[in-house]
Amino acid sequence: MEHPLQAWRDTLRELGVVGLVREPVAQAEAPQPAGRAAPEAPPPPPAPPAAPAAYAPPAGPVACPPAAAVRAAATLTDLQCTIEGCLACPLGPGRMKFVFGEGDPAARLMFVGEGPGRDEDLQGRPFVGKAGELLDKMIGALGLTREATYIANIVKCRPPDNRTPTPEEARTCLGYLHRQIELIRPDVIVTLGATPLRELAGITEGITKMRGQWQRIQVGGREIPLMPTFHPAYVLRQYTQDVRRAVWQDLQAAKEWLDRPADS
Ligand code: SF4
Repeated sequence: MEHPLQAWRDTLRELGVVGLVREPVAQAEAPQPAGRAAPEAPPPPPAPPAAPAAYAPPAGPVACPPAAAVRAAATLTDLQCTIEGCLACPLGPGRMKFVFGEGDPAARLMFVGEGPGRDEDLQGRPFVGKAGELLDKMIGALGLTREATYIANIVKCRPPDNRTPTPEEARTCLGYLHRQIELIRPDVIVTLGATPLRELAGITEGITKMRGQWQRIQVGGREIPLMPTFHPAYVLRQYTQDVRRAVWQDLQAAKEWLDRPADS
């Protein structure tokens, strides 16, 4: 039977990390030195976040939800209810499903991608295709679960042929993401690819140059550290050890920020 550490080790190897993980011990527990107590069992994993409140979609399209209603949304469920029928930019009429975002409504770590692709458009969930599988693996390699984070995109409707959203489309949708961030209050945001870096931090330089460099953004009066890294779809296209290692370093930096002592 596969050792429980095997999958984790394989994931790290896929991410280009070598030499950091000890080979799992295949046999029974290693003997303890005489006189030393056996180590305590690790604490049980935290309970999964509570299921979100039931959501009822609006009866008809909301061509452009009033900004005041977006600002007034007090919960993620309220916000989704307010904007679900949005047709405020050209992407709205072409969508199969609205992709609001998902995860822990109080997540400390938030990922922001570019926009839904085909699988996401069909399922109404962010990052569920091949790129999503890779993102899940990377989150797992950090010792977290997808459910403990929050995952959203710059635009909530699929751009045709998976093209990059235009700046106009992105900016039309951005107010919704800002309200989402205000409600979630993440401690760190990781942007995936060039588009969320451009739209959230106003940085138009290439992601190859900017990845791994901490930025700070202001959302709702809070300053939030932002770590830019490559989009998982790019990692799949450029499946080199350098690219995978770069993403791993960026994610580790984000995790180290989360794990730092509160007063540092
Ligand atoms: S992408 Fe955003 S702004 Fe455009 S229609 Fe969809 S929800 Fe509305």
